[in-house]
Amino acid sequence: MSEANPFESLQEQVDDAAAYLDVGDDVVERLKHPERVLETNLSVEMDDGEIRRFKAYRSQFNGDRGPYKGGIRYHPNVSRDEVKALSGWMAYKCAIVGIPYGGGKGGIIVDPDEHSESELERLTRSFAKELRPLVGPDRDIPAPDVNTGQREMNWIKDTYETLENTTAPGVITGKAISSGGSEGRVEATGRSTMLTARDAFEYRGGDIGDATVAVQGYGNAGSIAARLIEDLGATIVAVSDSSGAIYDPDGLDAVAVKEHKNETGSVTGYGDVEEMTNDDLLTLDVDLLVPAALENAIDADLAEDVDADIIVEAANGPLTPDADDILADRDVLVVPDILANAGGVTVSYFEWVQNRQRFSWTEARVNDELEAVITSAFDDLVDAYETHDLPNFRVAAYVVAIQRIVDAYTNSGNWP
Ligand code: NAD
Repeated sequence: MSEANPFESLQEQVDDAAAYLDVGDDVVERLKHPERVLETNLSVEMDDGEIRRFKAYRSQFNGDRGPYKGGIRYHPNVSRDEVKALSGWMAYKCAIVGIPYGGGKGGIIVDPDEHSESELERLTRSFAKELRPLVGPDRDIPAPDVNTGQREMNWIKDTYETLENTTAPGVITGKAISSGGSEGRVEATGRSTMLTARDAFEYRGGDIGDATVAVQGYGNAGSIAARLIEDLGATIVAVSDSSGAIYDPDGLDAVAVKEHKNETGSVTGYGDVEEMTNDDLLTLDVDLLVPAALENAIDADLAEDVDADIIVEAANGPLTPDADDILADRDVLVVPDILANAGGVTVSYFEWVQNRQRFSWTEARVNDELEAVITSAFDDLVDAYETHDLPNFRVAAYVVAIQRIVDAYTNSGNWP
């Protein structure tokens, strides 16, 4: 894993794409920095009565196309630059799929495994209190990310509604269905990963049903992508999590591996299969590689050894910019994160729309609307790639996204 600064990676990606657009340097500069970042220190009571300090951030990147939108991550490696980068990727992600949001992201420096549920609840509510002036259904709408889920979203909603003395389910997405969540939200990121992988194989003249697949990271995004890709007939030969990787050339059962992980906490120790390192998995000879863990999983050194034909980025920022260049030179087709994992935010948008309508859609409607959004964005990306003769799909995605944000900014004008 590389130590590349994800915020510098984001800025490089914006520069690479802006070079193909007729946009002034002053406007590009604006698109490389968040509008504001909250840095806060939360004082939280532990179960033994001790008060502990936790640093937390919320970055609001760009609001030209609508309210800020993006997840909240709990991880020991959360940093100001990581949160800024993730908020930028959210802005470009919302633009490529054409949903009316700007980008935001939040995080707390914490290892949730070291805390009880009651400590995590007090931590979450403490952060929600700090976020109160910044968030709201028309201002900034958080969502789950690494190590957060429905439980944390429900606590944040309840804290906001209690402090505001109102009901406002649209203040946050990724809630439990009984608290105003949407059908299909839990699966949405894995679903867009599957849809873009399918479209990438079609683009290359192949069929994903014949593919061998390796998935790095077997959490929400990775395990669901694996199951849905397996449903298309592909063979999942390797999966991993932070404990290591498992490999079976005859194919793993995606659902059974997930059940094993739910029971034991890790994918390792599953059945009679070979165990390997995460780097071994990332360099397997497979048709499709799905990085679904964290940033910088593949750096320049590892990229030289990657042996997949197609990479679909379920995680945010899994390739460093140097790795990206090497893979493009080696003709590996990379479907960029801002499209591949955009299913999560797209169904979050559907959840927000349902909350505003006070009306619930069926799961079939959610999945149909999601497929329409993702395939249309894939077509826009391919159109830009071919029309402008761009170096790779990532540049194409940013070209489309940046142009949409710039158009909204230009229409509004600069104020004051
Ligand atoms: P998660 O916490 O459910 O799963 C993360 C998985 O990655 C875990 O299985 C963990 O063990 C594994 N992991 C951590 N470090 C690893 C390493 N070094 N090597 C291999 N595996 C490792 O998180 P998630 O929600 O699935 O998110 C994964 C990625 O997808 C993140 O980059 C996140 O930003 C992105 N993403 C998630 C969503 C969503 O809706 N969940 C939406 C968009 C993007």
